[in-house]
Order: sequence, then C-alpha cells, then structure tokens
Amino acid sequence: MEEADVVVVGSRLAGCAVAAPIARSGRKVIAIDRMTFPSDQLSTHLLTTTGVSEIAKMGALPRVLETNPTIVSKATFVCEGIPCTERLRPADDGTDFGLCVPRDLQDICLVEAAREQGAEIRENCVFEDLIWAGGRVAGIRYRDENGEAREVRATLTVGADGRRSNVAARAGAWTPYRMSKNGRGLVFRYMDDPKMGTKDAETFIVWRENKSMAFAFPSAPVGKLLVLFMGHRDEVSTARKDPEGYWQAKLDQHPSMKQRVSRVDADSLTKVRSTGDTPAFFRASSGPGWALAGDAGHFKDPVTGQGMRDAMWMGRTLAESVIPHLDDPAGVDQATRQWEADRDRHCLPAYHTANIDTRIETQSAVMREIFRDAGRNEESDLSDIFTRHRTQQEIVGPRRMTRALALALIRGDQPRGETISRSIRDLRTEVAVRREIRADEFRGTGTIKGSDHPGVEWPAPPSGGSGGKVRTGSESAEIPS
Ligand SMILES: Cc1cc2nc3c(=O)[nH]c(=O)nc-3n(C[C@H](O)[C@H](O)[C@H](O)COP(=O)(O)OP(=O)(O)OC[C@H]3O[C@@H](n4cnc5c(N)ncnc54)[C@H](O)[C@@H]3O)c2cc1C
Repeated sequence: MEEADVVVVGSRLAGCAVAAPIARSGRKVIAIDRMTFPSDQLSTHLLTTTGVSEIAKMGALPRVLETNPTIVSKATFVCEGIPCTERLRPADDGTDFGLCVPRDLQDICLVEAAREQGAEIRENCVFEDLIWAGGRVAGIRYRDENGEAREVRATLTVGADGRRSNVAARAGAWTPYRMSKNGRGLVFRYMDDPKMGTKDAETFIVWRENKSMAFAFPSAPVGKLLVLFMGHRDEVSTARKDPEGYWQAKLDQHPSMKQRVSRVDADSLTKVRSTGDTPAFFRASSGPGWALAGDAGHFKDPVTGQGMRDAMWMGRTLAESVIPHLDDPAGVDQATRQWEADRDRHCLPAYHTANIDTRIETQSAVMREIFRDAGRNEESDLSDIFTRHRTQQEIVGPRRMTRALALALIRGDQPRGETISRSIRDLRTEVAVRREIRADEFRGTGTIKGSDHPGVEWPAPPSGGSGGKVRTGSESAEIPS
C-alpha cells in the first residue's frame, strides 16, 4: 500500500494533463494505464491551435514535434461547393498551428513528458476498484504488471480512463445524466499524400456535400494523409462488409476528395477503420475524493474534432483547481465540484455544435450564405468554433443569421418555403441553446430538440459498478477509515 497526493487511472490525454502539473507543483502523483506505450487508440486525432497549446502546456510539444508532423496553419471548409479558407487563430501562448499525429506516436510523448516532470506512470496496470474511507474515495486497488494486487491511497482519485470509465462505474456515475445519439459514423484510413509539397498538403480540408462529410488531414510524419468520411452511422456496417467498395462509393460522392487523392499510391493505403458508436454524453464528474477528466466525464460527437483538446483542457484545469487544496480533503471536494461546473460551462456550446453537425441533412441555404460570407477573406471566422476562441452563438449572431436568410431568399438556390421552414426550426434550436447557456444549471438534464438526439442505448456498467446513482459520502464507506 502506497500513498500519493493524487492517483490517476488512465494515462493518455486527460491523465497526463492532470499528472504533469501536479508533479510540477511538487506533489506526488501516480498514474496507471492498462496499456503499454506506444499504444494506439481509435481516433482521427486532429488538434487545432488551442489543442496544440494544451500539449505545450503539458510540456510535451518538443517531443510531439520530433514525430515530424505536418504543421498546419489553415483550414478550408467547402460547403456544397462554396469554399472558405481561414488562418487558424493562435492560442493564448502564441501557438499558431494545428497537428494530426497518430495516437501511437503522440500519446507516448505525453507519457514521457509527464514522467520527466516527476509523475510516476505505471504501464500494464489494471484498475480494479475504489477504496472508500470515511465517506470519501481514498484511493484505488489495481493489478500491477505481474498480476499482483496493489493499493494506492490518495487525497484525490481521478478517472481519466475514457468513455467506458471503470472509475465512473465504481463511483456510481456510470450512466450519464445527459446523452445524445450520433447521427454520423466515422470511416477512415491513412495514405501517402499525393499532394505532398503543395498548399493542400498543409491545409485541413472539410467538404460538406449532400448529407455526407469528407475530411483530409495532413498527418505525421510529413507526407502522410488521413482521409475520413462521415456519412450516416448505418454506413459503417457497409464499410465493414466491403471496405474497398464503400471507399470507392464515398469518393464518387465527394468528387473534390476523389480529385485530392487521385494520384495516391495504392500500396500506401492502410486498412479502413470505422466506428458508428460515438454517442455524446455528460456524466456526473465529481464527488467526495474523486473526479472524472476527459472522455470519462464528457464526450462530444467527434464531427468537430474537439475531444483531445478538451480532454487535455479538463485534465490541466482540474489539476490547477485542486493543487492549492491537496492538504485539505474538503477543499479538494469543493474545488472538484466547482471545476465540474466550469467544465460544463466551457463544453456545453461545443456539445450542441457537434450535435447539430452530426444531423444527417443537406446544408441549409442560410448556412451556405454564412460560408460564402466567411470565405471573402482568410481571417479566422468560422474556424474559431474549432479553435474554441468563440462559440457558434458568438460567431453567428442574430444579425448575421438574418442577413444570411435574406441573401438565401434572394438567391433562391433552395425552394423559399424550405429555406423559411428550416430557418424557423433552426432558430428554435438556437434560442433553446442560448437559453440553456444563460441558465447555467449544474448537471442540467434538459433536452433540446434539434440538438440532443434520443435513442442512445447505454450499456450496463462493468460488474461491480452501481449504475446511475452517484454515491455520496454518507452512503459509501465500504472500508472504514
Ligand atoms: C473515431 C473517433 C475519432 C475521433 N477523432 C478526434 C479528433 O479528430 N480530434 C479530437 O480532438 N478528438 C477526437 N476524438 C476524441 C478523442 O479520441 C478522445 O476525446 C480522447 O481520446 C480522450 O482522451 P482521454 O485521455 O480522456 O481518454 P482515452 O484516450 O480513452 O484514454 C483512456 C486511457 O485509460 C486507460 N484505461 C481504461 N480503463 C482502464 C483500467 N481499468 N485500468 C487502467 N487503465 C485504463 C486506457 O487504456 C486508455 O489508455 C475521436 C474519437 C473517436 C472515437
């Protein structure tokens, strides 16, 4: 049995982002992971400027840059043929580029950087249960790399163990209090970039065509390209049955992507990877002696590529909020609750944006006008949603929306009746989202039509978890202090 100030389960983005600042502050932090690094993770791993800035704040950027990634400073959005290219707005520390580094290359850099700063990271160690004492979580039990049972006692236990969080299950927070079903699935693969040496090879490109989306992300090392299609989630089963047939069909649906990869070396194409299982959720993420960071506590549809940045933001801000209180358990519990409220304030607008983007429908005439307007110059505008400098509500306010509607009606690309009825529907969703953001309710369970999509079938917790009931101090003292 060991003691630490903080023990963390999971040692990727959220876990290393918690561990690094705690270690830097001179406190003892132990993080475990059941994997050994390098280790891959299903993700398309795009980071914009603020995501790269989180890597820098973790102290891992020099290592990540050693993977020789493509440095990307622009994003192009093409909405039904209307192009809009923008420079990515720099983060608060001046970081002015995005990256897309495969997780097996990237995550080991985070682990090594956190270790270098004093965090003890133990690989091949499996979390088994929480230790409770005096109504608080007092640490963890786990199996080490030799299968030996071990315990670590700590003032704070952090679950940074991903969407299927065992820590959440053991804390009684397994079932999210809010969930939204993904409309889109993800089907992607890597290849040598046939446009190597051109501007395209240094730009993130997203095409929105009909009801489908196609993404080209220059990756790492330089010269690699990740191509992703996000059509209806049901397409994933087709992609699994006939990967190459599906791939060809998607290229035919997206002629610009077909053109982008037309000269690809077929030998460089990797296996097609896919998932249709990406429901968004919020879990209760703090309680006596415990907190959940990263995907363990909140996940949003990957269509906006915010998960990794948010996982690191959550880990870092959680660490910063508890560091001053680590000698005072009650202070830690107050800080984690306050942090959870701040997290929701920070993530709620992006959750709604992703929910709206995962809807399977053509882009509205109003949206096309907004892309046309943003495409007039290369200043950061719509991309601020993805760098998180501004929310969708801040970027597309009532005046811009009204102007876009007027232009859409004048242009008449879509039937006017359809333009008006979709605008009314979207306006209702928008008003409800703004109202919810203003209300700032803690663990709000409201559902917003047009954003929160019903139908998520949440799996049962791993055995031993206590489902959706959040344990409180008074009812959870399995191990007497
Ligand atoms: C298909 C897909 C595409 C995505 N694309 C993007 C994108 O382009 N950009 C982006 O920013 N985000 C993207 N995301 C989201 C992103 O991958 C996640 O938000 C991110 O991985 C969360 O990091 P994390 O550290 O919270 O959790 P994870 O990366 O899930 O890490 C959790 C760690 O906990 C460990 N663990 C779990 N259980 C235990 C246990 N019992 N004992 C010990 N260790 C344990 C695991 O081994 C793992 O290493 C995507 C997600 C998906 C599914």
